[in-house]
Amino acid sequence: MVARSTLLFLSRREGLKDFATRFKPFRKMTARFVAGEDIETTVRAIRDLNAVGCTATFDHLNEGVRSPAEMEGEVQEYRRILAAIDETGIKSNVSIKLTQFGLAIDPELAYRNARAVVEEAARRGNFVRVDMEDSPVTQVTLDIFGRLREEFDLDTVGIVLQSYLRRTEQDVRDMLALPARVRLCKGAYNEPPEVAYPAKKDVDDNYVRCMKLLLRSGVYHGIATHDENMIRATKEFAEGEGIGKERFEFQMLYGVRRDLQEGLAREGYNVRVYVPYGKTWYPYFMRRLAERPANVWFVMKNFLKG
Ligand SMILES: Cc1cc2nc3c(=O)[nH]c(=O)nc-3n(C[C@H](O)[C@H](O)[C@H](O)COP(=O)(O)OP(=O)(O)OC[C@H]3O[C@@H](n4cnc5c(N)ncnc54)[C@H](O)[C@@H]3O)c2cc1C
Repeated sequence: MVARSTLLFLSRREGLKDFATRFKPFRKMTARFVAGEDIETTVRAIRDLNAVGCTATFDHLNEGVRSPAEMEGEVQEYRRILAAIDETGIKSNVSIKLTQFGLAIDPELAYRNARAVVEEAARRGNFVRVDMEDSPVTQVTLDIFGRLREEFDLDTVGIVLQSYLRRTEQDVRDMLALPARVRLCKGAYNEPPEVAYPAKKDVDDNYVRCMKLLLRSGVYHGIATHDENMIRATKEFAEGEGIGKERFEFQMLYGVRRDLQEGLAREGYNVRVYVPYGKTWYPYFMRRLAERPANVWFVMKNFLKG
């Protein structure tokens, strides 16, 4: 079986990323996790999700962008996404990654580009979630988010925290002090044991601790997981505390546990599905394989089927 760490290592190889992106037949393999290459196809995928009672998060795949022209292209792409959401009436907000906007070159540039997107979302009454990337950029991401949150209100911009990081419980408390809307996830990157819990049990225990802090705060948060134990713990805690189903949402990824997504929606929970699209799918796709290495066989089978 291919190991998680190998897949995460491969996810960061720029040469493979370039090759995979250009090689059209790979597109067939990615279809389960990536809605398509353009906005129109993604709008159709989101309409289908809306039809079964789920809302969405529209995400343009591109990370680690280094050229200012490409960054400006990303800002324009998000303006087009926000316009398409309004024009089509689909129920969706958006997610961005700060490395998509130049974080690797200059945090100030990333802030300015992200700000342009958040400003457009504010103008349209939509919401931007700042995704969390790997631990070398955790603090700078929180700092930039803090600046955005000072300028824009609670319902315009939110952040992501990862329960595998040892620092996260404190970050949850700091974000609640702002206050801020948080998407809580486990974390998808290869991290050293000094910064992240290596054992699943510790990641899960921290997830439950942070979930409780978030739900008790009264702010509308996103509980992002496909782990039935985390979902059960969230439902039980909310019920026990008298926290209504309308006061938080479950979030899941496009192509992962669709049965669970639809089941929770039928039970009356708010469910939001993260729907990525774009040509630069390689790192995102490899992280999805790493989360469940059995996926490697699933995609290979589909690829070979022709
Ligand atoms: C909406 C959303 C947004 C996210 N945003 C971020 C982010 O900004 N930063 C970040 O670091 N991470 C992000 N993640 C990814 C997250 O950190 C985890 O890597 C991912 O969700 C898997 O963790 P899990 O909670 O599902 O639990 P796990 O314990 O990993 O998985 C539980 C079960 O879920 C199913 N499952 C999980 N992943 C997959 C998969 N890829 N394919 C098939 N089945 C699977 C399996 O049945 C597995 O046994 C996000 C996840 C979601 C749902």
